[in-house]
Parts: sequence; C-alpha cells; structure tokens
Amino acid sequence: MKIICVGRNYAAHAAELGNEVPTDPVIFLKPDSAILPKREPFFIPDFSDDIHYETEMVVKISRLGKNIDEVFAHKYYEEFTIGIDFTARDLQNKLKEKGLPWELSKGFDRSAVVGTFLSKQGYDLSKLHFAMKKNGIEVQNGDTSLMLHPVDKIIAYVSRFYTLKIGDLIFTGTPAGVGRVEPGDVLIGFVGEKMMFNVKIK
Ligand code: MG
Repeated sequence: MKIICVGRNYAAHAAELGNEVPTDPVIFLKPDSAILPKREPFFIPDFSDDIHYETEMVVKISRLGKNIDEVFAHKYYEEFTIGIDFTARDLQNKLKEKGLPWELSKGFDRSAVVGTFLSKQGYDLSKLHFAMKKNGIEVQNGDTSLMLHPVDKIIAYVSRFYTLKIGDLIFTGTPAGVGRVEPGDVLIGFVGEKMMFNVKIK
C-alpha cells in the first residue's frame, strides 16, 4: 500500500509558505509505515523542532488502475476521510534549500493520520467542507472546491506514473492555516459535525 500526497493544491496555502502555484500537481509519497495507528498519540520526533499539521481530504483507492482517464477517475474510489500530513517543516526547509528530495520531512513514522472512512455516497467531494480544531479552537478549514487540482484530475495525473492499487491513499493537499504542534495539543478533524480523527501530541 502506498500513500500519495499532493503539495500546494490550494493557492492560499502555497502563498503562506512562499511557494509558486504549480501547473501540474506536486506529488510525493509516504511509506505505509508512516500511518499513525488508530487511537495512538503522535510523538514529536527528535529530529525536528517544528512539526506542522496539514489537514487534508483523503481518498482510498478501490480499484486497480493505470493511465486512468479523468472522466472515469470517480470509479476508482468509494470512500474518503480527513487526515493529517504531518511535516517536519524545519527539515523540509533545509532539504528544499539544498534542492534535495523532501521525503524524510514528510514520510517519517506516524506522519500520516488517517481518520474514519465514510462512503462518498451522499457527499459531494468537489465541494466538501472540512475543519480541524487544535485544543478546541478551529485552526484550519477547507473547501475542496478551492483545490487547484481536483481529486479526479489528481488520479488521472498520478496514474500515468504509478499503478494505483486497492487500498492506496491519496492525500489531496492542505488549505491555509498550517501550524506547529506542541506536546499536550489535541487535534480533532471534522466533516460538518462529524468527528473524523482525534490525535494527542506527546
Ligand atoms: Mg500536505
């Protein structure tokens, strides 16, 4: 199973980090070992002093596919959730400055929070509202209609390079409002009133 992530998929987030808005989606992977086991805390790793949350809509691939046409991409996922793409921002900035791959700053253990999956039936994933509260205060909210590259386009693009397999996850990018976590923080993700994940930082 692989975790495919999209970077800079919301203009306001690209701007807050001082990044250009890309023409093609910016893609990176996390290994399957990055998944935070359910109900376990996130431990701040010793190699970073600046771990950021990035709250994102996540879809789960339900069919094997390669070179998927955008028009048919919706047939390749049935469930979605909200997750966190934890990022060691200090390490990422160091690697970016040197022009090196960011893998380590994105793919480390427990860096992928995946919420409870919901069937996409009854939801319009092209205009889904989601939010994340840190210690009870909303710090991020997203509307997928603001994505630069919608899910179906991401699937079409990515499947030109990677065969998509059942169970693969796609993290679709974060809206603005990313920020640092500290030990003791509690992060809760929502779709409407529905709680999708609840993560303690240690
Ligand atoms: Mg992200």
